[in-house]
Amino acid sequence: MSIASNYQTVIQRVRDACMQAGRDPHEVCIQAVSKTVDIDAVREAHECGMVHFGENRIEELIKKQTAEPELSWNFIGNIQSRKIKDIVAHAATIHSLYKYSHAVKIDECAKELKRPARVFLEVNISGETSKSGLSSDDVFEMMRECLSLEHIEVIGLMTMAPRYDNQIAREVFRGLYELKQEIQARIDHSRMEKFSQLSMGMTEDYVEAILEGSTCIRVGRGIFDEDYYCS
Ligand SMILES: *Cc1c(COP(=O)(O)O)cnc(C)c1O
Repeated sequence: MSIASNYQTVIQRVRDACMQAGRDPHEVCIQAVSKTVDIDAVREAHECGMVHFGENRIEELIKKQTAEPELSWNFIGNIQSRKIKDIVAHAATIHSLYKYSHAVKIDECAKELKRPARVFLEVNISGETSKSGLSSDDVFEMMRECLSLEHIEVIGLMTMAPRYDNQIAREVFRGLYELKQEIQARIDHSRMEKFSQLSMGMTEDYVEAILEGSTCIRVGRGIFDEDYYCS
């Protein structure tokens, strides 16, 4: 019951935020971050209508994907070089690419599999030292380098906002939106048309993220924590 009611609350808040921002709710994909729950909770979420799931450990992603292969499984965790082959083979999208050496390896694996790897570039907009990601300056160079790798499709940018202050979170999200606009304005390349998404917003700040243009929110506790919206 609680996943169902949480999901209804999330959907309603997404709709309200879209209404406020003058956006179409269909532009926003809800990814259920299932990293802390088991496959039964995933199945329950799927019965409520959820189809996109996010995991931060590839072993766990593969395990759940094997149990539920029809669902969309996305990698949102830190990339380790020796796991790239598995990540590329199993994840529908990779949200957390920020090293060129990893991009090269992802490209090689995607080539072998004969299908493009769809990735977001992770940007550390807030500049917190605890966060990973490219600096806003370095993302241009990385974007150009990735465009020359034929088997990678950069579909957008991803960031994580500092916690506990939604005003600051909103400024960070606006920063990512503006960065995407700037990249689109400055980089002219035939493969740029794929580059359109913003993966931003988690349980505590997805409303702010949608107001600033998010197309993909990654919600864990807000969906899977029992009665998150009742406490
Ligand atoms: C865990 C995680 C989330 C979801 O966090 P919640 O606060 O539970 O919504 C989103 N994105 C990433 C990268 C995560 O690791």
